[in-house]
Amino acid sequence: MLTKDMAICIRAVDYSETSQIVTLFTRDTGKIGAIAKGSKRLKSTFDGPIEILSHGQILFADSNKDTLATLTEFQQEPTLLNLRKNLFALYCCYFAAELVNGLIHDYDPHPELFESFLQFLQNAGRHETRHGMLAALILFQLGLLNEIGLQPVLTHCANCKTKYEYRASSIEHQVYFSSSANGLVCRDCEINFADKIRLSKDVATCLTNLKQIPASTEEILAEIEKVMVLHLTELFGRPPRMAKHIMGS
Ligand SMILES: [Zn+2]
Repeated sequence: MLTKDMAICIRAVDYSETSQIVTLFTRDTGKIGAIAKGSKRLKSTFDGPIEILSHGQILFADSNKDTLATLTEFQQEPTLLNLRKNLFALYCCYFAAELVNGLIHDYDPHPELFESFLQFLQNAGRHETRHGMLAALILFQLGLLNEIGLQPVLTHCANCKTKYEYRASSIEHQVYFSSSANGLVCRDCEINFADKIRLSKDVATCLTNLKQIPASTEEILAEIEKVMVLHLTELFGRPPRMAKHIMGS
């Protein structure tokens, strides 16, 4: 039986001279691995070779969820072309695709995440500055973690539950982030977490009030993204492949 769905390609590798194996994040089916036979031929039902980040309507057959599905059609939509002109935005999109691929399980649908991922990709080409792109990336990452139940605790100490607002008024403003605590930890608790890092006041203020992210400086956003990468490295058990391009470029 053929299934119709909307999909974003999050990974594509050559399988043979004419075919590809692709990983697709679909709206209603979730993540699927599929073989696209003949996708590299000039004339195919895939609108040309399937590239990572391409999106559109697909038709596929999955007779057995343990094996690759067979992609029979991919009507690719050409909205992301201007990304090629903005390398940083392109890296951020590859990074987002890598995170979706690494954190979402096969055949586990997340339609809201699909919509926010698509919107993230469509807006990526429009950010004129690194600042706007970084803000969008941070919010996308937090949304992704939230969707899979791994949202870091940012409103209070993840260990003793003391509300952050209370701490903010203290003279010595010290807030830490610990991946093993899954969120912010206060100065009374930080000693229990060997992996903690101390946050600057601006970063802590921004993380506890995410509405401030779009209005924060690029410097603060870069520092927050560093925290996100540390956290994702912990979740993945290794640094995400694209992270060095985000932090180093
Ligand atoms: Zn605490």
